[in-house]
Amino acid sequence: MHQFTPEVEALANEVLAYSLQRLKSDPPLDGPRTAEDLFKEVGNTITEKGLGGHQALEVFTEVLAKACISTDHPRNLAFIPSAPSEYANLFDLVVGASALYGGSWQEGSGAVFAENQALRWISDLAGLPESAGGVFVQGGTIGNLSALVVAREEARKKHKSITKWAIACSEESHSSLAAAAKVMDVELLKIKPNESECLTGDLVEKALAEFHKDKTKRVFVIVATAGTTNLGIIDDLLSIGNVAKKNDIWYHVDGAYGLAALCAPSVREKFNGVELADSLIVDPHKWLFAPFDACALIYRNPKLAKEVHTQHASYLDTLHDDSWSPSDYAINLTRRTRGLPFWFSLAAHGTNAYAEAMEQTMIVAKNAAEKIRNHPNLKLICEPELSIVAFERIGWEKADYLKWSEKLLSDQIGFIPPSSHKGKSILRFAIVNPWTKIEDIDIILATL
Ligand SMILES: *Cc1c(COP(=O)(O)O)cnc(C)c1O
Repeated sequence: MHQFTPEVEALANEVLAYSLQRLKSDPPLDGPRTAEDLFKEVGNTITEKGLGGHQALEVFTEVLAKACISTDHPRNLAFIPSAPSEYANLFDLVVGASALYGGSWQEGSGAVFAENQALRWISDLAGLPESAGGVFVQGGTIGNLSALVVAREEARKKHKSITKWAIACSEESHSSLAAAAKVMDVELLKIKPNESECLTGDLVEKALAEFHKDKTKRVFVIVATAGTTNLGIIDDLLSIGNVAKKNDIWYHVDGAYGLAALCAPSVREKFNGVELADSLIVDPHKWLFAPFDACALIYRNPKLAKEVHTQHASYLDTLHDDSWSPSDYAINLTRRTRGLPFWFSLAAHGTNAYAEAMEQTMIVAKNAAEKIRNHPNLKLICEPELSIVAFERIGWEKADYLKWSEKLLSDQIGFIPPSSHKGKSILRFAIVNPWTKIEDIDIILATL
């Protein structure tokens, strides 16, 4: 059975040497190539006899890896990038070497115990009760969907005659809610936020009153966004939560990006009201220094989620006792213990280090905003609420932004694709990497 031959040993050394080199050196930015172009270089890598480990690794390190943009490059400020800590990345190697099954307590109790402590940290920061809990799922998209399915089930118990259900959220909410609405075959009630793009309880209340005039339809969940993906705006979590309670509607907080900052004292009060949530999500792979792919999905009352998501089959019955099986809390069965790299880094560094790293990214964001305000060619769109800085390049059309962005990447300076705001092209820096220094911002601003 044990086949760790000298050949495997040699490959192990190569793999570890490459991994360590990648972790030790500044990440390359790199960039995309076409499939045709890649095929010309590597051909069909799947062959009857196999390439052998050495050669297959070389295909990856010399060609394929270089056709992938490093999400942890300090001047990759696109979308929401990623900045896993060295500890988290190293522990991912351990997870990969350990054949851990993260679906059930029976098979993975030690790992699940650790994941649950990491979830507890987030849950406590949010002010949820001791009974709260959940699971690390693949990403915010699955996290949102899993929570919303539980929310609808709860609403069905209370309103037996309703057949047409709707999700209420801001127009600025994330595209994954539209995706969830499609999968669930429900309506998406998009509410226009105020002029600062913040959704408030008043606005939700008005929209509900209007929507519920039709007695056949009902909103089963109100989703507030704690840090919109485009501008980083935090909805008014407290007033929206109160409206949800008053109307006896499930309250979900989508904090895939922003709720990471719950651990940062300087902005903690912006999240007041999050403690009212029936469920919330935050992606440690975005702004909590964990590798892909990990979204913390937490329920105030996990029993309700277990009722909905537990899969039943004769061969699974031995798993269903009172123990905590992560599979029971989302749309998933087999799962990688994807929360472990995050747990390890958090356990090893301590939570203070997280607060400090978080504050550091927000200081750079503030400084970047200041520089943009003083830049003759640029116009700041709004003060950064967290760590996203959005701005216009005065006089540029969409094509100018695209051309600039392509050149920035091909010159290997940075990766910043344009976004849009109120119908106009804009640029945005999403700063989640403590290694992004103000000098990196200067290098980018000098090209504008
Ligand atoms: C990124 C994001 C999501 C989706 O998360 P994935 O991990 O990409 O699936 C959902 N909501 C918000 C607010 C986000 O920023």
